[in-house]
Amino acid sequence: MAKKKKYRSSNRSYALVAVMAVALLAGSFALGWHFGVQSTRFQGEILLVNESNRLAEDYVPEGLVNLYQQRHSFRMASSEIYLTRETYEAMEKMFHAAEEADMNGYIVTSGYRSYQRQAEVYAQSEPGKAQQPGASEHQTGLAFDVTVETNDGFESTPQYAWLSQHAHEYGFIQRYPANKSDVTGISYEPWHYRYVGVDAATRMWKTGETLEEFLARN
Ligand SMILES: [Zn+2]
Repeated sequence: MAKKKKYRSSNRSYALVAVMAVALLAGSFALGWHFGVQSTRFQGEILLVNESNRLAEDYVPEGLVNLYQQRHSFRMASSEIYLTRETYEAMEKMFHAAEEADMNGYIVTSGYRSYQRQAEVYAQSEPGKAQQPGASEHQTGLAFDVTVETNDGFESTPQYAWLSQHAHEYGFIQRYPANKSDVTGISYEPWHYRYVGVDAATRMWKTGETLEEFLARN
């Protein structure tokens, strides 16, 4: 009887150890998954490109699409503008929404630029007006420049005002805002938009942080 009781008791403690082990395993899994998702979303997937974070000469993003060959609710300065498919799809959704809101006339002027192309742009530009090859976001295929036909600057147009209020809803940030050139290293570029995904874009839109500041904090 005593022996049986002892056996039962140890059986029970085995069961308890097993339950605790499973709970611990599940807990650490949940924890690891949680942190894994956070770091993937904000560090791994959001590419930071600037003077001190340069892309390799042979870096070419995967899945570039020619915008001219896609359905487009915007005009283009050239039939040879490329972006990653995800970026194109988000931008098309955005400009389609703008059109629905009677906001028309957007002209996309630039998208993906290879390292070699950026080197040419850099060589032809006045000092400080273009990024050095490898330091341009245009090499990511995640950024585009846009304007409208205007005699004033793009920043004084209603189309610009619409983008300022809605771009984040489609995953875009204005990458080089006014008064942030000390952080970005780039002077105000109201025409340059960068795809980072809706979640990150919305957070940055709310806090007014640049990509540099956002990634340093997350
Ligand atoms: Zn640009």
